[in-house]
Amino acid sequence: MEEILSGALYVVATPIGNLSDMTYRAQYVLDNVDLIAAEDTRTSGVLLRHYDVKTQLRSYHSYNLKTETPKLVKLLKQGKSIALISDAGTPGISDPGYQLVQACIEQEIKVIPIPGASALTAALPVSGLPINRFVFEGFLPQKKGRKTRLEWLSQEDRTVVFYESPHRIERTVNDLIKFFGDRKCVMARELTKKFEEIFRGNLSDLKTRLEVKKIKGEIVLLIAAKSL
Ligand code: SAM
Repeated sequence: MEEILSGALYVVATPIGNLSDMTYRAQYVLDNVDLIAAEDTRTSGVLLRHYDVKTQLRSYHSYNLKTETPKLVKLLKQGKSIALISDAGTPGISDPGYQLVQACIEQEIKVIPIPGASALTAALPVSGLPINRFVFEGFLPQKKGRKTRLEWLSQEDRTVVFYESPHRIERTVNDLIKFFGDRKCVMARELTKKFEEIFRGNLSDLKTRLEVKKIKGEIVLLIAAKSL
């Protein structure tokens, strides 16, 4: 496999549930860098033990990224190779990553992508909705700005993709019906895991489905474009 570059930041995707979705390259990079910056060192510890990776872990979380970003940049400048991972999936996608990558770019530090799983790219191709063009919204704001985002997105002419938690899905579906009307939608839940479910229907069907049985697990919600 390739030589690990000193003084480079590797942005490494990890599985979103099924541990067999780790790539050979990701495992190799994690095994051979000097340091791994991980969102949650305990969560990533479990993952890394599974692949027998013994590289030192260090926390890089939304709570400490202000203080940690300059420290990691300093280590990179000193020639250390660092891998950035999140709890699951691709760093930076609704996860910490952007600030560190931005700081590296400013300091002319090489940033190398190690692509792999993301709930976004896992859900899109199985949705059955047009995905040549789509818009990714991530998590909707809970309070301030929620109504404005929903009004704006309801006019979108592309498939709209949200991340959502099982505790908030009912409220979000109700809001979507209010702002978007009874559009086609897809709920992709627990992707790559034992209880994987891909629900396709209209928003009102999804509302009924959620009333019948409370759901658990992680969710990607896709809404058809206005014109579909
Ligand atoms: N960086 C991750 C990625 O690349 O997908 C996303 C991290 S974000 C903090 C976590 C959210 O991603 C979950 O609340 C859920 O909306 C979505 N997600 C993560 N894993 C998932 C899975 N296995 N199935 C469905 N959605 C998932």
